[in-house]
Amino acid sequence: WVTSSLSVVVVGASGDLAKKKIFPALFALYYEGLLPEEFQIFGYARSKMSDTDFRDLISSTLTCRIDAAEKCGDAQEKFLKRCFYQAGPYDDSSGFAQLNTKMSEQEVSKPRANRMFFLSIPPNVFIAAAGGAAEQCSSKTGWTRVIVEKPFGRDSTSSRELSDGLSRYLREDQTYRIDHYLGKELIENLTVLRFANLVFEPLWNRDYIKSVQVIFSENFGTEGRGGYFDQYGIIRDVIQNHLLQIVALFAMEPPVSLDAEDIRNEKVKVVRSMQPVQLDDVVLGQYKGRKEKNFNLPGYLDDATVPKGSLTPTFAAIAMHINNARWDGVPFLLKAGKALDNRRAEIRVQFRHIPGNIYKHKMGSNMDNTSNELVIRIQPKESIYLKINNKVPGLGLRLDSTKLDLQYQSTYKKELPDAYERLLLDVVNGDKRLFIRFDELEAAWELYTPMLHEIEAKKVAPELYPYGSRGPVGAHYLAAKYNVRWADLEEESL
Ligand code: NAP
Repeated sequence: WVTSSLSVVVVGASGDLAKKKIFPALFALYYEGLLPEEFQIFGYARSKMSDTDFRDLISSTLTCRIDAAEKCGDAQEKFLKRCFYQAGPYDDSSGFAQLNTKMSEQEVSKPRANRMFFLSIPPNVFIAAAGGAAEQCSSKTGWTRVIVEKPFGRDSTSSRELSDGLSRYLREDQTYRIDHYLGKELIENLTVLRFANLVFEPLWNRDYIKSVQVIFSENFGTEGRGGYFDQYGIIRDVIQNHLLQIVALFAMEPPVSLDAEDIRNEKVKVVRSMQPVQLDDVVLGQYKGRKEKNFNLPGYLDDATVPKGSLTPTFAAIAMHINNARWDGVPFLLKAGKALDNRRAEIRVQFRHIPGNIYKHKMGSNMDNTSNELVIRIQPKESIYLKINNKVPGLGLRLDSTKLDLQYQSTYKKELPDAYERLLLDVVNGDKRLFIRFDELEAAWELYTPMLHEIEAKKVAPELYPYGSRGPVGAHYLAAKYNVRWADLEEESL
């Protein structure tokens, strides 16, 4: 960076994601001194705004999470002075040409000008904007990198069209497909837990693990944003990308090194070993309204932005299977839903029963399931805990199920960085470990596309479940088919 500057361009700068995540993450990186000395931010969108309007918009999104407000306020001022805005269309290169001029005016202090674009726009304008940015604004002296947000298509065909469209303008090494789940602290830690602790990796296989659950639940519905959601549904929105990425990291073979290509090679390999999802292994749900004495919770179809009679699932439970020597016969149960009774994302690893357990008759009444369980709580209240069987202290001999418990908040006493902070920093550093490679994406769609098409062709109706409930009953039958129970919510650890 001694000889280089950095320009970050947020395309779609007037949008929700930019305000909610991208600007706050850039500010946090700046505040922590992780951005190069010479850097500037450019907003680009169709909305008309002056630089001052743009700075006002950004300033309303910034918070001083890291340090005392006063010091942070000073840093905010300095940060905002580095922000500029250019209005223009996405599907016409004229605006990008003006943007290029504006960027060049600022990039004068260093011989090399590196440029990073974040396409934070709806998918219908991805390719046009990538084209405009690449053709008009590619750096002539440094690197040019482009971050693309999901959705990466709706199925194998549309995803390939998108990839082909982007590849007309960008090389694969310039393309950063973001899956923000991979930027979460506990997901980064997943491979550390496995490969840096002797006690886990030897057990990480079908001989010791009975089942794996990956659970994502939200305790709110679409709340007026159902129009976007309805085109995708919960499987495309959460399961085919975020949860499948978690399974891939969880289940992959040890990579040769931490190099991005070594890790991504292993992820592709394990995704290719998975069986395409069968409709028999899928339970769909959609939340319905709930009237109580004092409140009225709206159903999915009550959202004015959702088409009447929509069959789009807001809940899905899916059993996946990996056909390789390590995981043969181990069900991976994935569950995601909106408007459920809690908000959490976690991985739960259920171990097999102890063979010939000599303490069986000493188990307490709360111990109907005596096997160990490892829980990796991704959010909220990040934690890792291992459920063990333990002797209840005292003269008698009675066993209890208790936890070896690592709570991040009390152990590390620091606020964790947002996923976007980590991922944006990785792009600055050219680290592609946590980004999805073209062939990973293709392999992921191959697993899900036939089933998604079958659901649509057969117009499979989702099972209705009340807002704020545990979801459709069918999910319990699916788990029972594999001799598994969905883990109960453990209130005390939330
Ligand atoms: P957004 O607010 O709907 O759109 C971003 C900007 O794009 C808008 O401010 C608007 O700017 C422009 N735009 C909106 N609709 C358009 C249309 N039909 N044609 C052309 N331009 C349009 O989107 P977002 O929520 O920020 O999300 C950006 C991208 O990230 C999307 O691909 C989304 O799927 C993805 N994403 C979002 C989230 C999230 O939490 N919001 C999470 C994960 C992924 P102008 O009118 O000023 O041009």
